[in-house]
Amino acid sequence: MTLDNIKEEIDKAGTIVIVTHENPDGDAIGSSLAMYIMLKNIGKQVEVIIPEIPKTFNYLPYINEVKTKGSIEKHDLAISVDCSDIKRLNGFSEYFENAKKTISIDHHSSNTMFGDINYVNPVAPATAQILVSMFQYWKIEITKEIGTCLITGIITDTGGFKYATVTHETFDFASWLLQNGIHISQIYENCMQVISKSRFELTKIAVDRLEFVEDGKIAFTYINKEDEKLVNADIGDHEGIVEQGRSVEGVEVSIFLRETDKGYKVSCRSTNDVNVVDICSIFGGGGHARAAGCTLPYSLDIARDKIISETKKHL
Ligand code: 5GP
Ligand code: MN
Repeated sequence: MTLDNIKEEIDKAGTIVIVTHENPDGDAIGSSLAMYIMLKNIGKQVEVIIPEIPKTFNYLPYINEVKTKGSIEKHDLAISVDCSDIKRLNGFSEYFENAKKTISIDHHSSNTMFGDINYVNPVAPATAQILVSMFQYWKIEITKEIGTCLITGIITDTGGFKYATVTHETFDFASWLLQNGIHISQIYENCMQVISKSRFELTKIAVDRLEFVEDGKIAFTYINKEDEKLVNADIGDHEGIVEQGRSVEGVEVSIFLRETDKGYKVSCRSTNDVNVVDICSIFGGGGHARAAGCTLPYSLDIARDKIISETKKHL
């Protein structure tokens, strides 16, 4: 059983490193930290490496122990959480590649199975929810700190418990946390509700530019580097913009483009039948049926044309 094999590797390893995907979201950070705290609690020598963390997640326990550089080059074991593709480990893939043994724990349907051991459940609403059952199976105590990190991953990856991916296990866990004195409403407010002024201003620019194509079935908007400079945007301030278009009646696919050094980063969300991972995979990206992304190394106009024409084929 894969879960037993994973535990065996953890027990054997002298040094462990945890990594996750670039532009990390609440599930990436929450799952990494939950794994980190759990491994520390069972006495392992472990480090967690995450390149850039949005300030939103400063409330998470042990966030100050996250490193941007590993202290050793070759770990006995590397664990990747919430990452579908080794390319998305970005500049930090070296820690994964150099490790003697590698494990990938994820919930993306597009996972490329890049670990020596892969534990991928594409129907889980968040990697954090996979970790809940994993820790329960191993009979490892889910402390308040671990619970806070896990529920953060679940809340953020389900859009605040609202996506169809939510299962009864999601609410069982939330209920268990409440019974154990964890303030879910406070965590919810921290990761979903409060946004910085810059993020608000950036959203305003994108919403103002939002256009509807194909009889209102596609919502499209973008931001460029100039916009981010104008509002003094911080890491992660573009998060959630793509949801604005998705909420509008009649929209089947919402597309949001953000200028980066590699071109335009695409975020796609769908409301009903369109499988956006199929659209983004064509351009080398991935994700889930209702939320996916890719990078288009072109100018804004070309990127817009390419992604919209491909989306039209899937409506
Ligand atoms: P977002 O639009 O929030 O950046 O990403 C939506 C989902 O698609 C997330 O699960 C994210 O991990 C995945 N995703 C976004 N961009 C890429 C990409 O370039 N490659 C792959 N494989 N997955 C991506
Ligand atoms: Mn996730």
